[in-house]
Amino acid sequence: MKELNSTVLIVGAGPAGLTAAAELGKTLGDQVLVVDREATAGGIPRHSDHPGYGLRDRKRFMSGPAYARALVKEAEQAGVTILTRTQVTGFDESGQLEATSPTGRMIISPKALILATGARERPRMARRIPGDRPGGVLTTGQLQNMVHLHHEKLSGRAVIIGGELVSWSAVLTLKEAGAKPVALVTKYPKSESYRLFRGPGKLLFGTKVITNSFVTRIIGKGQVSAVEIENSATGQRETIETDWVVFTGDWVPDHELARMMGLDMDPATKSPKVDTGLRTSKPGTFAIGNLLHPVDTADVAALDGKHVANQVLAYLGGGTPPSDTVDLEVDSSARWVSPNIIRPGDISPSRERLLFWTDTYIARPTVEARQGGKVIGSVRTSWPAAPGRAFRAPSSILDKVDYGAGPVTLSIT
Ligand SMILES: Cc1cc2nc3c(=O)[nH]c(=O)nc-3n(C[C@H](O)[C@H](O)[C@H](O)COP(=O)(O)OP(=O)(O)OC[C@H]3O[C@@H](n4cnc5c(N)ncnc54)[C@H](O)[C@@H]3O)c2cc1C
Repeated sequence: MKELNSTVLIVGAGPAGLTAAAELGKTLGDQVLVVDREATAGGIPRHSDHPGYGLRDRKRFMSGPAYARALVKEAEQAGVTILTRTQVTGFDESGQLEATSPTGRMIISPKALILATGARERPRMARRIPGDRPGGVLTTGQLQNMVHLHHEKLSGRAVIIGGELVSWSAVLTLKEAGAKPVALVTKYPKSESYRLFRGPGKLLFGTKVITNSFVTRIIGKGQVSAVEIENSATGQRETIETDWVVFTGDWVPDHELARMMGLDMDPATKSPKVDTGLRTSKPGTFAIGNLLHPVDTADVAALDGKHVANQVLAYLGGGTPPSDTVDLEVDSSARWVSPNIIRPGDISPSRERLLFWTDTYIARPTVEARQGGKVIGSVRTSWPAAPGRAFRAPSSILDKVDYGAGPVTLSIT
């Protein structure tokens, strides 16, 4: 079996992995190896062909493919090696990783490892939706693969399940491919995406937003012909004729490798637990991007990559983080918080922000940190907390943590 040597191995060439590579490449050059199972590096933005990328990290408003190309170029210019069609499939106790590629299997033994494997939408099967099993039922990722990578044309009507930003991304793709996105169905009282998308969405695409509703049945033999939905307030059911159903959002991190390695996992995010330096429970193994926070935007994932680079270099230089830890937890007002461990005297999290996921819309939320039942910090943000997108709050609410007083519970009210 071929053996590859690299000082740092990065698994996943999406925005997070490529940005970490470009940053580390400035110091380590070709000692940084990035592997990705896809044929082309760039991650999700490669097939998300609409503007909306690069604001926070590149200070530009770019299309997904242009953004992906810029990230690949930057990593290559830093001297980093990128291997595509290479999937990391295994790990052994000595720290060796096994990968497979069209040229065969290989062993990689890095001194430091960064997991940047991203997140994916849960497909229809995993959502346990009753009904027939016809073709034409996709996730946004599958749809965009068909349309933007394989240039397939679609026709007929489409219904989108979910009302997140990514749902509008599906609307754009359907429209571009030749289908008519007739309705967007969300379980929430209003579409989760910004108002900016909802108004023009209806006007430009004729896409009706159906709120407070969920799918009860998929109908069709061979190809989907209709979807049945139920209004959760009235119990009333409605059948919408359609040729395509696209399930959007409902994210799950690509965590198989992290689990296989036996890293401590956070049951809420289903991601490896990390501290503010993005270190996992295994020394020398780091995690970044949407693997940790399923999902935030690409620029936030990319900035994780920048943030982790110094921690990796510190580790390679023999540095160790403070050994005391305090866990961060959420009460029922949020699904998860990331990062989920803090240490005394450690660096602030990336962008000095804690990331949350919530199921309730709050226009001007207050985020509160409690320890031992006592409020130790709180902040009221001028931006809303909303379902379907990450909510970001200043990490300064943790400034008064007592490292001997147990876990910190965070709430959004
Ligand atoms: C339809 C859609 C539209 C979006 N629109 C926007 C937008 O307009 N603006 C915006 O900022 N964000 C948008 N996003 C979100 C953005 O794409 C993500 O935030 C970003 O891609 C996350 O980057 P990442 O590097 O963490 O993960 P990813 O981009 O998912 O990259 C992870 C990479 O890891 C690889 N990988 C996984 N496991 C392995 C393994 N075992 N071995 C080898 N390789 C592996 C995968 O092949 C993949 O290339 C959108 C997302 C979707 C799905």
